[in-house]
Amino acid sequence: MLTTPTFAIVGAGLAGAEAAAGLRAEGFDGRLVLLGEEAERPYDRPPLSKTYLRGEADRDSLYLFYAAHNIELYTSARVRSIDPPGRQLQLASGERISYQRLLLATGAAPRRLRRPGADLDGIYHLRNRRDADRLGAAVGRAARVVVVGTGWIGCEVAASVRQLGRDVTLVGPEAVPLARVLGPEIGCFYRDLHAEQGVRLALGTDIDAFRGDGRVEAVVTSDGRTLPCDLVLIGIGAIPRTELAEAAGIAGGDGVLVDEWLETIAPGVYAAGDVAAAWHPLLRTRLRVAHWANALHQGSVAARAMLGLPTRYERLPSFFSDQYDVSMEYSGLATASDRVVVRGDPATRQFVAFWVRHQHVVAGMNVNVRDVAEPIQALIRSGRDVDLARLADPDTPIRELADGDR
Ligand SMILES: Cc1cc2nc3c(=O)[nH]c(=O)nc-3n(C[C@H](O)[C@H](O)[C@H](O)COP(=O)(O)OP(=O)(O)OC[C@H]3O[C@@H](n4cnc5c(N)ncnc54)[C@H](O)[C@@H]3O)c2cc1C
Repeated sequence: MLTTPTFAIVGAGLAGAEAAAGLRAEGFDGRLVLLGEEAERPYDRPPLSKTYLRGEADRDSLYLFYAAHNIELYTSARVRSIDPPGRQLQLASGERISYQRLLLATGAAPRRLRRPGADLDGIYHLRNRRDADRLGAAVGRAARVVVVGTGWIGCEVAASVRQLGRDVTLVGPEAVPLARVLGPEIGCFYRDLHAEQGVRLALGTDIDAFRGDGRVEAVVTSDGRTLPCDLVLIGIGAIPRTELAEAAGIAGGDGVLVDEWLETIAPGVYAAGDVAAAWHPLLRTRLRVAHWANALHQGSVAARAMLGLPTRYERLPSFFSDQYDVSMEYSGLATASDRVVVRGDPATRQFVAFWVRHQHVVAGMNVNVRDVAEPIQALIRSGRDVDLARLADPDTPIRELADGDR
């Protein structure tokens, strides 16, 4: 029989670490177990495709927190199964841990590309620090690099590798990079940015095969090109790690389904971060947001929810990206049919883009413009109709548009 309550967190990434710290900050004084299959304590992933990959940040700078707060951190500890009705989990080592509350923060894994030759040496994916170390070492030996995938990871790795002076070709099926999230207009900005930096672009094409004798030597595209290379990075998205939840019968199609309190259909079992598909009470849809800010904030909301404190997760989706000297932040949720209004001139690499639906702003992205993310979020939340000319006018403070004529 249990004496002190035990809360268990599976996944020692950002969401798991934030939840653990949050539980202690909220006064939880029972046993707190944080279980991670990686060999090290929680660390931050965004630098892995940027400063860390380029050798500008060292390993110590990645770590999120020291094993303070009396948290039992298990490293190299893969959880094999969970048993929600029995409130018990089992590690791959065979050890069993009973809990009162469980948080699933298992993140996501890189999507694989099933093509002939995809298992050749010299083909890399990027999710964790070991991947970044291997990729970084291989980039050091390579002259020609092909990056497959024009999403965030693909674009950031292409930028970093180019900054390291390698010959880079960026390949993807979309007409412009990042088109799925940003649409064609803003995607063009990123296409031109990479082209100006000397990245070769092979856009609008899929991959047919990877060629090489044991080791990759070329990528063959569906439109008939053969791209010679010494190294390939595949960055075509990530799949939520739902295997534990699935085996326990509590996963949905794309992630672990949770309500606005981040609880699953199994009482006492919560999910947060990249793995969680959460009901968003303001946007009135279910969202799985695989970005840093979401993992950070859902971690602390999950901690409050696990303690039964009043809370719900209603932050707008948001993310950031750094490529070359271009830093951006995006807030909100746009679709392909939303109208794009630009404030400033993208050619100067300093502008704000807004996505407008029925006269109100549903998303905004500031590029090399500081301190406007909060006003943009306030504007989105306000739901106010906006005058498009004022929206495009850099002299009209965004906060003023959010506050209206009060
Ligand atoms: C290279 C890279 C660059 C990024 N850059 C940006 C960026 O610029 N901006 C941005 O907004 N977002 C960025 N992100 C996304 C952001 O880092 C993620 O959204 C965030 O890390 C998600 O945190 P998480 O805790 O949900 O999952 P993770 O950080 O993936 O942590 C999950 C942990 O759970 C572990 N685990 C899984 N299953 C088990 C199990 N059965 N037992 C034990 N442990 C398990 C995993 O090994 C992992 O350590 C980037 C991601 C990557 C990979």
